Amino acid sequence: MSVFEENTNPTNNYKDIQQLTAEIEAIKEELILKTELLKMKKKQFLAPSEISRYSRQMILPEIGIEGQKKLKASSVLIVGVGGLGCPSSMYLTSAGVGTIGLVDYDIVEINNLHRQLLHAEANCGMRKVESGKLSLERINQNVNIVTHDVQLDGHNSIEIFQHYDVIIDASDNLVTRYIVNDTCVKTGKPLVSGSAIQCDGQLAVYNYKGSVCFRCLHPKPQPPETVGNCSSAGVLGPVPGVIGVLQAMEAIKIITDHPNVLYNNLVVYDGGDCDFKKIKLANSKRKGCICTKQPEEISIDTDYELFCGSKANDKVKSINLLQENERLTVLDLQKYVSENEPILVIDVRKKVEYDMCHLPFSINIPLDDLKTEQSHSQLIEKINLSYTKIPSLITVCRRGNDSQRAVMELKKKSILKNKVNWIKDVIGGLHEWSKQINTNFPIY
Ligand SMILES: [Zn+2]
Repeated sequence: MSVFEENTNPTNNYKDIQQLTAEIEAIKEELILKTELLKMKKKQFLAPSEISRYSRQMILPEIGIEGQKKLKASSVLIVGVGGLGCPSSMYLTSAGVGTIGLVDYDIVEINNLHRQLLHAEANCGMRKVESGKLSLERINQNVNIVTHDVQLDGHNSIEIFQHYDVIIDASDNLVTRYIVNDTCVKTGKPLVSGSAIQCDGQLAVYNYKGSVCFRCLHPKPQPPETVGNCSSAGVLGPVPGVIGVLQAMEAIKIITDHPNVLYNNLVVYDGGDCDFKKIKLANSKRKGCICTKQPEEISIDTDYELFCGSKANDKVKSINLLQENERLTVLDLQKYVSENEPILVIDVRKKVEYDMCHLPFSINIPLDDLKTEQSHSQLIEKINLSYTKIPSLITVCRRGNDSQRAVMELKKKSILKNKVNWIKDVIGGLHEWSKQINTNFPIY
């Protein structure tokens, strides 16, 4: 009976609906299968336009038609769409890797742009993965760009990693390095690891053809105070550029089965001297390392931040070392300045940072220098020469953490007793000044 014929029996109607639903489901499944098969066929086939596009690299015997098909059928996950992730993803997208996954939790900021070339001025404030996807799609529409707008942790990493063939660690912190390494070991993925800070960079391939993993070399994390990041230590843009491009190169070599993938070696780049060193690593795994275990024995349900004693991002957490009455707001500071109160504002950042930008009424004594006798005599001299009334001391820094340490340091010094009224710091530091008082004041 056709469904268009009138049927007055409700039981028959119900049966018809059931039958039709089952038929629709069967057609749907068939369609999904056909689409998947079509996708697979497409991956194994290079269109004439693709042959033209990739011809310069396909001419190389290392790539050829088979290598290009392998690139097209492959997927690479890039953890971090920053200084390393931008160049590596640009080269891999241009090379015709079929799927590129981008992981990042952050937004584009103006201070990213000197090294993170996927992002543009107009994209400041946008999610990095979205900005990256837009730029990569402009480079090559044939590549499927997948975004993962999350902060990687031991709970979400396996689900993400399992869909990719090669993982690129383009992160900027130790916590993420351990999460990426352990997940690669557990899921059996090769890891192309890179790092860059100031003028120096490093490159290594881990967990490839039975090679060592990151943990074999670093079973225990370095103390947090010895590990810098680009936010505090700085980085020259081309340095992550060099390392990110090399990461793309190693990923291409892995995908195309190149015989000389950089495993069991570490490349160290000194941008200042323009020097590359290749250091041979132990070619056997460290005894007891997680990479010697079976995947099911490896647990990544770990508190990695606790293990490393540091955080998985470079956002500086505000600390509270002082009592509430030992702290001022930026509005208080502005009031003291406008009312010509006898205050001495000490900016405790490094000289190079003070030279970049500072409050015109502040003097610079870096926190480390505040601990020296010389700085105290400097202070006393300044107070004696410049003030008719006993002044108050106000310390300021980038975000309001070091300024608290400076207050504690200054309060220890008996030489300042009777020379100053009170000593306080500014909550939120220059970042807060920029937000609330003068939006033209540079944030970095
Ligand atoms: Zn290992």
